[in-house]
Amino acid sequence: MHSSADHQHRTARPELELADIFREYADRLTELTGQQARVVRDVTECRTAALGGHIYECDQCEYQEISYNSCRNRHCPKCQRLEQVRWLEAQQERLLPIEYHHVVFTVPDVLHPLFLNNRRQAYNLAFAAVSETLHEVALRPKNLGAKIGFSLVLHTWTQTLLYHFHLYCIVTGGGLHLDGSRWVSAKPGFLFSVRILAKVFRGKLLQKLEKALDCGRIASHDDDPKERLRMAARKNWVVYSKPPFAGPEQVLKYLGRYTQRIAISNERLVSMKDGQVTFRWKDRAHGDKNKIMELDAGEFIRRFLLHVVPKSLMRIRHYGLFANSVTHELIPRCRKFLCVEASNLSDTNDPENRETWQELVHRLTGRDVTLCPNCHTGYLIMKETLPALRLWPPVQPRAP
Ligand SMILES: [Zn+2]
Ligand SMILES: [Zn+2]
Repeated sequence: MHSSADHQHRTARPELELADIFREYADRLTELTGQQARVVRDVTECRTAALGGHIYECDQCEYQEISYNSCRNRHCPKCQRLEQVRWLEAQQERLLPIEYHHVVFTVPDVLHPLFLNNRRQAYNLAFAAVSETLHEVALRPKNLGAKIGFSLVLHTWTQTLLYHFHLYCIVTGGGLHLDGSRWVSAKPGFLFSVRILAKVFRGKLLQKLEKALDCGRIASHDDDPKERLRMAARKNWVVYSKPPFAGPEQVLKYLGRYTQRIAISNERLVSMKDGQVTFRWKDRAHGDKNKIMELDAGEFIRRFLLHVVPKSLMRIRHYGLFANSVTHELIPRCRKFLCVEASNLSDTNDPENRETWQELVHRLTGRDVTLCPNCHTGYLIMKETLPALRLWPPVQPRAP
């Protein structure tokens, strides 16, 4: 078993943390879902006495330190890095030495209320609609006539924390021929027409939403729920492609930066005073200019919590050649056709094989966190376990 304790408190703490804002102002929000209340509680308690921890003592000198447990909530800004590294390493094994394309699917704003009311269902339907669209278009003989691989990543925020649903897709520039006999490469720099992707996606998603409304799987506050779908059907949907990745290293770099990201990092927070929160943002519409925004603290928290995803909903999903059920068999076959060394796929997420966070940090940074920072010769030994002291009120039970 690996411990959830973390020694990151040895590194400098940012001046302002999301936890500080929650501690001060979270009571301004009343109508939180159970999931949102849990995020507020976890972020507030992360690496504090509330979660308990361990006292470590050096076996050579008098040095002692307390290491409080982290909350491991995926919306917590302090609990991102190690999970990110673990995830990246698992991805590395799936990457092929080819061009990767980068496509973004969005939905018209008119659908946002429906999405926010039915996060789990709507997100699942959108993942399904995008994956069916990509598969179907790739299989058309005049496109590739091949089985492609892709990963989809759900993002819902803008730089100012407003709601903007989009799915990022990282798609192989080619695929396995339908008869499995060879690799089919896409033309360099071009994969599929985004106009066609948008049209197919619009048809599929609207059909799924309509069916879900019909059988009551999603709920709407509208008098005529179908009117929203009809309005969306009349719009031009936006699918756009970003410049392709030059190769697997660039894909990894991108994934590392974006995929595990939450709506805002502690580093972007500037100040909190008189009920106002200020933070840095990049104005994408104006050449990525750095700007500062000031928001009422309640509004800031409300915006942050718009992006909480339902419990156990997967934000990153793999399809086609990358689907977990087939990737062990198909990736080595693709490597063979592409004339590259086969690598052994190991399941790094298998809890049995999982290294502890101490081992991981040591392997990545060469820094042994069990070495005493005082005498540099002794090793820190766990001396005592500190029980959790819940300070925050327990999470309200929520309706099933
Ligand atoms: Zn945390
Ligand atoms: Zn020591």
